[in-house]
Amino acid sequence: MAEILKGAPAAQNLSLNLIKRVEILKSKNITPVLEILRLGARPDDLSYESGIIKRCGKVGIEVKKIILDASCPREELLNAIKLANQDNKVHGVIMFRPLGNKELEQAARDLLKPEKDVDGMTDGSLAGVFSNRDIGFAPCTAQACIELLDFYNIDLTGKNIAVLGRSLVIGRPVSILLQNKNATVTMCHSKTKNLAEICRQSDIIIAAMGRANFVDKNFINKDLKQVIIDVGININDEGKLCGDVNFSELESLVKAITPVPGGVGAVTTSVLAEHVVRAAEKYL
Ligand code: NAP
Repeated sequence: MAEILKGAPAAQNLSLNLIKRVEILKSKNITPVLEILRLGARPDDLSYESGIIKRCGKVGIEVKKIILDASCPREELLNAIKLANQDNKVHGVIMFRPLGNKELEQAARDLLKPEKDVDGMTDGSLAGVFSNRDIGFAPCTAQACIELLDFYNIDLTGKNIAVLGRSLVIGRPVSILLQNKNATVTMCHSKTKNLAEICRQSDIIIAAMGRANFVDKNFINKDLKQVIIDVGININDEGKLCGDVNFSELESLVKAITPVPGGVGAVTTSVLAEHVVRAAEKYL
């Protein structure tokens, strides 16, 4: 049976390190502050928000909430971002996405200072990922995949990795972060031919498509002892949470696999907290 790569121990490990770093910041009169910018009250935003507040509370980060109407005027949202940019007490900002208004979302992304962009939504942050330079922050879920692999000592050097999905939030940045760690990455998407064959030739598969139970035994080569990272969060036909990977079918065929829930998602808020602490340290 596969090793189950649970997110909680990796998250806990990150948190313990953060507690120490926050203590040092506080001894220098700096309390790291994260501003949450939420439009409306979508259930998944509320659930993410409560996870963030819990995680930040555990490590000593203060959370400030700015809640706007789902259809607030353009100027109201942009003004909130301007104020956060100017506020020296706010070290990081996360704006829950997607917004209903794509053009407004882009304007908000363009306005936020990369040094406060703790969820990697600005072009500056993405440029930092692509050029492997210290500009802004990587998108948290993409970074969470790397943290999870690191925590379980899964070496990436020279490994063939198939990344399924090319979004700016996960697929693209995680592909670059993996290459920065010397992996050979094949980035796949909905038009990729021979997807299952590419996966069968890969040492590691990272699934981030939003397609319930899509990756099944046809994507697996048992001899390769593959590692499967499932980023997907979907609702299956029975109304239950599931990933992009058919966990029960693959569990006996691969070397290691993340569960959903309790895998990558459990690490994401800790990565966000780490980014806020790092932003505060840079400010110092
Ligand atoms: P997205 O923006 O919808 O992107 C999905 C990507 O998957 C696209 O690049 C798409 O290809 C590709 N894709 C879709 N169907 C495919 C298929 N049949 N074969 C190959 N590629 C396919 O989604 P996202 O925001 O990246 O999120 C992906 C998943 O991660 C979702 O389930 C989401 O809920 C989950 N998620 C998890 C976390 C976490 O913390 N664990 C955080 C955020 C999101 P095209 O580009 O060609 O359309």
